[in-house]
This record gives sequence, C-alpha cells and structure tokens, in this order.
Amino acid sequence: MTIFSSPAFEGHESLHAFHDAGAGLNALIAIHSTALGPASGGVRMWAYPDDQAAIDDALRLSRAMSYKNAMAGLDLGGGKAVIIGDSRTAKTPQLFEALGRAVESLGGRYWGAEDVGVSPSDLAHARKETRFMAGLEGHPAASGDPSPVTAEGVKRGVELCVRRALDRPLSEVTVAIQGVGHVGAILARKLAAAGARLVVCDINEAQAAAVAAETGARVVPPAAIFDVEAEVFAPCALGGAISPETLPRLRAKVIAGGANNQLADPATGRAVFERGVLYAPDFVINGGGIINVAGEIRALERGEAFDPAWVEAKVKAMIDTLDEVLGRSAAGRRPADQVAIEMAKERIAKGRGA
Ligand code: NAD
Repeated sequence: MTIFSSPAFEGHESLHAFHDAGAGLNALIAIHSTALGPASGGVRMWAYPDDQAAIDDALRLSRAMSYKNAMAGLDLGGGKAVIIGDSRTAKTPQLFEALGRAVESLGGRYWGAEDVGVSPSDLAHARKETRFMAGLEGHPAASGDPSPVTAEGVKRGVELCVRRALDRPLSEVTVAIQGVGHVGAILARKLAAAGARLVVCDINEAQAAAVAAETGARVVPPAAIFDVEAEVFAPCALGGAISPETLPRLRAKVIAGGANNQLADPATGRAVFERGVLYAPDFVINGGGIINVAGEIRALERGEAFDPAWVEAKVKAMIDTLDEVLGRSAAGRRPADQVAIEMAKERIAKGRGA
C-alpha cells in the first residue's frame, strides 16, 4: 500500500483511516492543508476497486480542495472524506453516524459536506455525532443546494472569458454545454437569459430535451458536442472532457464550464494554450458551490443565520481572481491551469507564514 510515494501525495498533513465493524464503515479522511483554516471538502461514497484507489482519490481530491478554497479566497484548507462502499446498497443511518464520530475525533480540523454518492439527509445522521458537517438543510445557517451559486459563478466566468478572447457580449456567441444536470441546466437558463445561443447534450436524453424546451437550445448526441460550431465549450458533466482525442475536434475559442478535473492531464492544459484557446481553470471558475458551503460553516461558527450577501461578495472576488489568472497567463505566455496552481500554492504558503 502506497501513501507517501503515491502520485497524488503532495505534502499532505495527515491521512486518517477509520473502521467501525458494527456500522460497516471503512473510511478515509485526508487533510492536505490547514494553513488557511480548517480543511474542508465533501464526503464521497464510492465502491473503490481496492484500498489503494480510495487512498489515491482521498489524497488527490483533498489537494484539489486546498487549491479551490485558496483561489476562492476562503479561510479554509483542503480535505476530503471517502467512504468505501456502494452508495446504492450500503447506506445506513448507522454508517453515517459512525462517519460523524470519525469527523468529531479530528476536533474540527476537517469539515465535511455533500459530494458524489452522499445527500444532505445522509449527512444529517453524521451531524448527530459532530458539529463539523455542513451542506445540510432546515436550519437558519443552512446553505441549501450549492448548484445555483456554482452556475452563477460559471456564467460570470464565461462572460469574462468571451470578453477577453473575443471582445463580444454573451448575446453574440454560441455556447456548447456538455451535461445539463444540476449545474449545466441552471447555466443554460442563465446564458439563454443573457441572449446566448445554446447547443446542449446529455446522456440523459429527457434531461437534454427538457432544458432545450426551456431555453431554445439545440440538442446534439453526447458524442457530437465536441464538433459543433460554437465559440464556447462548457464542460458540465464528469471529468476528463478535454483530452488529446477531443481537443483537436473543438472549434471553440473559450473553454469554461462547471465540471471538476476538465483536463485529462497537465499536457492537455499546455496543448489548449498552444492552440490559442482561452481556458478558465475548473477549480477557479466552479468555486461558487464551496463558497456557498463556506457561508454555512461561517454562520454555524458565529451562531448566525446564513448570509447571501457574504456569498455574493466572495463570488465577485472569485471572478476577479479568474481575471487575474487569465491576465498572468497571457502576460507570461503560460497555460492558465499552471498559473492558477501556482497562485493557489502561493496563497497557501502565505497562510503558513512562508
Ligand atoms: P449532475 O450529476 O447533476 O449533472 C451531470 C450531468 O451530466 C447529468 O445530467 C449526466 O447525465 C450528464 N452526463 C454525464 N456524462 C455525460 C457525458 N459523457 N455526456 C453528456 N452528459 C453527461 O452533477 P452537477 O452537480 O451538475 O455537477 C456537474 C459537474 O460540476 C461535476 O463535474 C461536478 O463535480 C462539478 N461541480 C458541481 C458543483 C455543484 O455545485 N453541483 C460544484 C463544483 C463542481
């Protein structure tokens, strides 16, 4: 079993393994950094093929959360919890209560929230055992569904990129959206309201048709989204949309969307830059959701109600940060994703007092 020589290990502060036989819990919590504040990131439940895959995922995702939180200007570090198991068959209240005890044992070094395979109602069971759990519903500090805030940040990011790359308003471009689930559907509505033409796809055909009926978008099959005539490509499905196979097919001048891990690898980030395509680094443009969760953590810590005005100020600052990333990328003739990682590392190092 590999930890320190895992490709996903990068100066992590700690990795914790939890086992509760009675509750059937096998879980890991990785804390990448607490330099900027308590480590925060979602709880993922996934049927990993083996322990190593779970370790690698926890290390990789917690590091990504450090970068995302730093670039969103939050007083939060990066962490991630992974529960090893099938979320369709293995969920029980006892499992999440045991996870809550695991989180509590870290004494506030890690705050959990919703992620793949885990819902607010699952987290409500964890919350019985710990107060370090956000993304819940039905209390005054609750932040609710983060997707609308994520989509709002992405819409503003798309607008910024279109202005920078093409000097045009949204009403003069076509945006191709891959995946119209929680984030993609709201993004489509916002872009349509701003006058953009849309092409959408989704492996869920009914979902794509519903969004098209509402926004006037043209629907194409999922495999065809890379070939459409559009100024902007907005990945809003799963990771790895931009790869050596798909990049040569894209006609877009801008890649900006809500999905995590859009680039198949760092070499693809360089290839995007060399093609003259403006890329909004995913962990910068899609920070609206974690800002919303941070609003809940802040409210819980202060014993106050959730404050949408605080969230709005952070989203505005996030777009200014994206502008700075794109400016540095252009001035230094360097891929935007590399510039953004470097800026995130600078912010984390400053937090450590370096
Ligand atoms: P979701 O599951 O609601 O939506 C994803 C959609 O993509 C689904 O409708 C699915 O059918 C579709 N899809 C999957 N594979 C596809 C493919 N190959 N081609 C076309 N469509 C495909 O998820 P979401 O909450 O909207 O999140 C979308 C992305 O944004 C994910 O990568 C997620 O990690 C990221 N993200 C979400 C948030 C948030 O607030 N929800 C925040 C930050 C990042």
